[in-house]
Amino acid sequence: MLEHFREKSPWVYHMNTGSCNGCDIEIMALFSSKYDVERLGIKMVGSPRHADILLLTGPVTARSKEPLLKVYEMIPDPKVVVAIGCCAISGGVFNGGYSIVGPADKFIPVDVYIGGCSAHPNAIIEGLMKAIKIFKELRKE
Ligand code: SF4
Repeated sequence: MLEHFREKSPWVYHMNTGSCNGCDIEIMALFSSKYDVERLGIKMVGSPRHADILLLTGPVTARSKEPLLKVYEMIPDPKVVVAIGCCAISGGVFNGGYSIVGPADKFIPVDVYIGGCSAHPNAIIEGLMKAIKIFKELRKE
């Protein structure tokens, strides 16, 4: 039964690898009464060990690269990674900065990309729906 609810109600962990906080604020809005993604069963957790889906914001900086790899390893399989905002996808406006070492998919596999600067909450919800679909497929394998 626990496995059934894990599919129905995936837990997400959010990591900021170097963003300006714009996309992070949009993620926070998802849990406000306006968007209320908990009604869809999505719950934010405080530890990657409890997560099914990893939400990433910002480009990867020299200092966040190792923590990103650690967080990715800590999430149990199967897991889905979602890159939120242009910076997480390509480095965005931070590209070329002295401390930027690349977008997330240079270091870990990314399953869903959500564009925008910042990404709109509705776009993030759509991306999360895709991530849940991928998560369900992975669990069948
Ligand atoms: S995509 Fe825009 S809002 Fe999001 S972290 Fe980058 S600069 Fe900030």
